[in-house]
Amino acid sequence: MSYVKESETSATNPMTNQLRPDSPSPNKIDRESRKTVGKLAIDDPRIICKNVNVFYGENQAINDLSIEIGNQEVISFIGPSGCGKSTFLRTLNRMNDTIVGCRVEGEIRIDDKNIYDKDMDVVPLRAMVGMVFQKPNPFPKSIYDNVAYGPRIHGLITDKNELDALVEESLRRAGLWDEVKDRLNEPGTSLSGGQQQRLCIARTISVNPEVILMDEPCSALDPIATAKIEQLISELSQQFTIVIVTHSMQQAARVSSRTAYFHLGYLIEVGNTNDIFTHPKHPLTEDYITGRFG
Ligand code: ADP
Ligand code: MG
Repeated sequence: MSYVKESETSATNPMTNQLRPDSPSPNKIDRESRKTVGKLAIDDPRIICKNVNVFYGENQAINDLSIEIGNQEVISFIGPSGCGKSTFLRTLNRMNDTIVGCRVEGEIRIDDKNIYDKDMDVVPLRAMVGMVFQKPNPFPKSIYDNVAYGPRIHGLITDKNELDALVEESLRRAGLWDEVKDRLNEPGTSLSGGQQQRLCIARTISVNPEVILMDEPCSALDPIATAKIEQLISELSQQFTIVIVTHSMQQAARVSSRTAYFHLGYLIEVGNTNDIFTHPKHPLTEDYITGRFG
């Protein structure tokens, strides 16, 4: 029996402190284990990713990743840190363009257009595929102006009444209106962390996106603020496609209908969230969800 030494894993199961005897090493993936397990194609795809590779200089962070993401689905990306979840999330709205030395190969199609085509305008793309970050990052502006900013620069509104209505609607949909309606001129940064994150969500939805990317949106929040964001995610999923990176398997189980497990830059397994957590097919997925490494 060959157990992986504790020093070779970032965490081991506190119950057994060991990997299964037949487990692959979490630090190296052999060729056979690299092929994604599970159903990659879905009936009503919104985003089609084909053979995506991402490099930071010489280092490859994402390897030959293909997946389809559905209309109005919530899909979670889970996996140990450094496995490429944020990197892949950023490819979906070309946020990686802002990182010097980062190169993306392959195809990501939205509305049958490869967003990596040379003629793609990233400004409307990033409105259509909005992003919410780990740490709430309101602009150093008033609550009102945080939400009004996008509609103004994208020229979505023509007069002040229309803008007022759009700001109110966005704040309502982000579940924040009642808490801020009497203080719209105060700085966004004067809000609590959870309120700031909902403000960032209001800012994202104010420009009428189709897809919302969320990179560990609750990791800086307390459990009550987290519960509010999770509730919001399920409401927003009626209208938007949501891709969420989370380090919390409980959160993935609560909010998403499909889950994708990443490991060392490979998409190891994708499937219905319930199946992934109860009947994972790949041994690496099983080792991760049962806490043999983190
Ligand atoms: P995760 O979100 O799963 O924790 P990341 O996508 O952040 O993983 O990182 C995947 C790999 O890419 C890691 O090896 C990380 O060091 C590398 N990486 C991430 N961001 C950058 C960057 N801006 N420049 C260089 N390397 C990066
Ligand atoms: Mg990350």
